[in-house]
Amino acid sequence: MGDSIFNCCYVPPQPPGEEEHRGSRRTEIMASHSASISPNKRFLIVFDFDETIVDETSDDMVVQAAPGQHLPGWLKDTYRPGRYNEYMQRVLAYLAEQGVTESDLRSIMEKIPASPGMLTLFQFLRTRPAHDFEVVLVSDANTFFIESWLRRAGVRQLFHRIFTNPATFNKNGRLVLRPFHSHECQRCPENMCKQVVVRDYVARRTQERGRPYQRIFYVGDGANDFCPALSLGPRDVAFPRRDFPMHRLITETHEAMPGEFKAVTVPWVSGEDVIMRLRKLVAE
Ligand SMILES: [Mg+2]
Ligand SMILES: [Zn+2]
Repeated sequence: MGDSIFNCCYVPPQPPGEEEHRGSRRTEIMASHSASISPNKRFLIVFDFDETIVDETSDDMVVQAAPGQHLPGWLKDTYRPGRYNEYMQRVLAYLAEQGVTESDLRSIMEKIPASPGMLTLFQFLRTRPAHDFEVVLVSDANTFFIESWLRRAGVRQLFHRIFTNPATFNKNGRLVLRPFHSHECQRCPENMCKQVVVRDYVARRTQERGRPYQRIFYVGDGANDFCPALSLGPRDVAFPRRDFPMHRLITETHEAMPGEFKAVTVPWVSGEDVIMRLRKLVAE
């Protein structure tokens, strides 16, 4: 396990006595990673994946790979609230035992439809001037599901960074998930608080760029998209999918604690609704 992490990052072997340089070497690697992002981008746009970019929940779709396209009752009964990630591990282990392969899972992911107007929204972002949008994805799904879908849809290049749970196939052909990080937020599942992800990213990029973004946009649907949207300011825009949990939580917060939720809220049914608002704001 330790070996595979080492290999994936390709940190060259250290001569003895040079351990202390490791930190700076790692910083260099990270810096060169984000060096491809133009420092001049005016806006940051953050996307959720499940039920935002795609019109389904990818974790639910993998059930199609199970024998008879359903999971046995004993397996479903092992789900514990707040322990979703561990439950998903058991589902993936079961699928591997049933002979479901990497390419089976990939072809299921590739068939998930995009949400209405989402590919049009991506086309809009892609054709804007280079200094307009920095695009990132923050999802509690996993790298394999997301990369499979984005590549098939031909939109992988649009995303400057993808923050999600790391996933790799082990030697038995089982997809193994690792938690993205750990955090202290009471509101979020223990493997991911999207507010921590977004705040850390914005803080780091603001420092690298030497200035803040003009505005931040957040496009999502779920309860776990509410937490990051709470950290947005009055110039920023939250795009919750209409009548989905993120939208309901924003509406309830406006009623219960006026002023607590600061971002402008623009509910969407189609990606075209997002384009309409972005068109106005980029013209400013
Ligand atoms: Mg979602
Ligand atoms: Zn949180």
